[in-house]
Amino acid sequence: MAIKFKGVDFIEFDTLLTDDERLVRDNTRKFIEENIVPIIELCNREGRFPKELIAPMGELGFYGASLEGYGCAGMSAVEYGLMTQELERGDSGVRSFVSVQSGLCMYPIYAFGSEEQKEKYLPKMAKGEILGCFGLTEPDAGSDPAGMQTIARRDGEQWTISGTKRWIGLASIADIAVIWAKTDEGVRGFLVPTSAPGFTATPIQPKLAMRASIQCEIHLDNVRLTEADRLPLATGLTAPLTCLDEARYGILWGVVGAARDSYQVALDYTLNRHQFNRPIASFQIAQQKLVNMVLEINKGLLVALHTGRLKDAGMLRPEQISFGKLNNVRMAIDIAREARTMLGGNGITLDYSPMRHANNLEAVRTYEGTDEIHTLIIGRAITDLPAFESGTVARRGCQVT
Ligand SMILES: Cc1cc2nc3c(=O)[nH]c(=O)nc-3n(C[C@H](O)[C@H](O)[C@H](O)COP(=O)(O)OP(=O)(O)OC[C@H]3O[C@@H](n4cnc5c(N)ncnc54)[C@H](O)[C@@H]3O)c2cc1C
Repeated sequence: MAIKFKGVDFIEFDTLLTDDERLVRDNTRKFIEENIVPIIELCNREGRFPKELIAPMGELGFYGASLEGYGCAGMSAVEYGLMTQELERGDSGVRSFVSVQSGLCMYPIYAFGSEEQKEKYLPKMAKGEILGCFGLTEPDAGSDPAGMQTIARRDGEQWTISGTKRWIGLASIADIAVIWAKTDEGVRGFLVPTSAPGFTATPIQPKLAMRASIQCEIHLDNVRLTEADRLPLATGLTAPLTCLDEARYGILWGVVGAARDSYQVALDYTLNRHQFNRPIASFQIAQQKLVNMVLEINKGLLVALHTGRLKDAGMLRPEQISFGKLNNVRMAIDIAREARTMLGGNGITLDYSPMRHANNLEAVRTYEGTDEIHTLIIGRAITDLPAFESGTVARRGCQVT
């Protein structure tokens, strides 16, 4: 008799994890099942970010989880990855919120901030009492952030920033914005209070993806800052690109969660729905679709775990993050779409998650480096021939938002 595999796991994945890693995963899963799953379809329908979960997620240590000290959980890269996988099983918007707060806002303060800035912001950000956002992309500078036009001008100890940023996650509910701007000294990062005169953030609506999260256009109109608001160790475009590597790492784990949820929904549905007097799952074409999902999800998990082990060993290169992000997002969107087909007409209703995941993943394949940009990064690593001429690429062998 065939062995019945529980869920998607075909490779005894848990045997590759430590007790602590399994604990982080299981605790996050419990939170998502109890708090996100019951409300997420309604949030998606209403285009509402579930703000009521900000504090509870802070209590569980989700924000800045891989940072040490300052009230942060100090998780390993693998533990952090397992956490993001569970978050994105719930919804990409929830995982994205945690990624922005952690990898794109707390991380730059942690890596490039002064001790004073770290003490001021990180403990409160870890609890979710202060929310952050990360402003790099502009209306005319997306894949090539070196083309940014936001300018910061120094006048002694004072700075004035003007410009427009687009697609900035959480900006309308954030307390501070990490803003990247050109200066006479090169690209620099600033901690801009969103209450500062001249700062406005307007949500981009309507959207067909990431409906349970917020992205904004930011306008900075002569916003006045002091030298104490500048991230002192962030010099050049390498600084924001390093932050992006942190967030991309979370994505290559997270999207496996969206794929797993899509698979599980398709499996349950086709086991229970009968056509031609048999469960749909008994037909060969349905089984082939399910098998392909199991193959790809398990391979994606191994890529994520290996990438995490490299990161924990301090050996991870940006090209390897591109490899994981490109592969796993591609895998996840294919599975979400295939799962949708297996639900027939019901798959296009709001009652089932695969189409929500597929729509979200359309955005995920665009932000934190598009599929095309990650392809070019990997292509450059293989051939040593850059396919595009950006100064950013030349500097780092890496790119991009
Ligand atoms: C949901 C969401 C959340 C986001 N959150 C943030 C955030 O919090 N902070 C932030 O700063 N930004 C954020 N972004 C911005 C995101 O990083 C950019 O959308 C992304 O970098 C692509 O830029 P663009 O949209 O301007 O597209 P473009 O750069 O204009 O690209 C359009 C198309 O051209 C392709 N292309 C561009 N250059 C090349 C090339 N050399 N070769 C081949 N193809 C190329 C791209 O791959 C893409 O397919 C977010 C975006 C979205 C959708």
